[in-house]
Amino acid sequence: MLHIGCHLSSTKGYLAMGKEAARIGADTFAFFTRNPRGGKAKEIDAQDVQAFLEFAATQHFVKLVAHAPYTMNLCSAKENIRTFAQEMLADDLQRMEYTPGNFYNLHPGSHVGQGVSTGSKQIATVLNQSMFPTQTTTVLLETMAGKGTEIGRSFAELQGIIEQLELKDKVGVCLDTCHVWDGGYDIVNNLEAVLAEFDRIIGLDRLKAIHLNDSQNPCGAHKDRHARIGEGCIGLEALTRVINHPALRELPFILETPNDLAGYAWEIALLRANQQSSFPAI
Ligand code: FE
Ligand code: FE
Ligand code: ZN
Repeated sequence: MLHIGCHLSSTKGYLAMGKEAARIGADTFAFFTRNPRGGKAKEIDAQDVQAFLEFAATQHFVKLVAHAPYTMNLCSAKENIRTFAQEMLADDLQRMEYTPGNFYNLHPGSHVGQGVSTGSKQIATVLNQSMFPTQTTTVLLETMAGKGTEIGRSFAELQGIIEQLELKDKVGVCLDTCHVWDGGYDIVNNLEAVLAEFDRIIGLDRLKAIHLNDSQNPCGAHKDRHARIGEGCIGLEALTRVINHPALRELPFILETPNDLAGYAWEIALLRANQQSSFPAI
């Protein structure tokens, strides 16, 4: 079965997100752990979390893919901003334990002219300071489009961070289809080759989740403008190959397309209809 969901607003709490997900045919979802622009996180309501966990079990939800605030930059040139990011990250990882065993996805960071090597070292340092041996959360580094000085525009850049991490068994990668396409990986014509390269450089066992987005721009544009499924340069046919690929089909797919809830419900139904059975037809 295809595991799919979309980005949901967390303002009404966990149970509300769970019910919303179920209503639109999703069995996973994404949410910001705090205001996406950063800042103070809302207090976690233990009762709400408990109600959500019970509800999620009845709905057979798979792992959730929480998203760190996108302003959190682990490789800012300013030390006080890195310290602030580290505090935010450590706090988020503690809060993630209320819903054990899920994914916490983050943008590695923008090196703002310091260079990839310095930036990667700073990212790894902050992650090593924040992750802890007993955490049940897997931290996912997201593949980036490579706009500005973003780190993570290539599989090698992500691997360059991963190899400096101490708790490697708690680290994975989230592949964003819009971002890799914008980063220059031709998943329309060469999906097999792209995945083979991922496997060679990072290892497919690290690939834990997919952000399923179309892109407004051509391959290699380094722009990062998401489009609705089938309305961009990647297209429905190629995205259908992504959800059905044997190496990917069991992963949670998260839509981050420009949509309201009705639009997400429509895309989920469309992709479910395009899912191929894993058993050959008799
Ligand atoms: Fe993201
Ligand atoms: Fe994404
Ligand atoms: Zn994006």
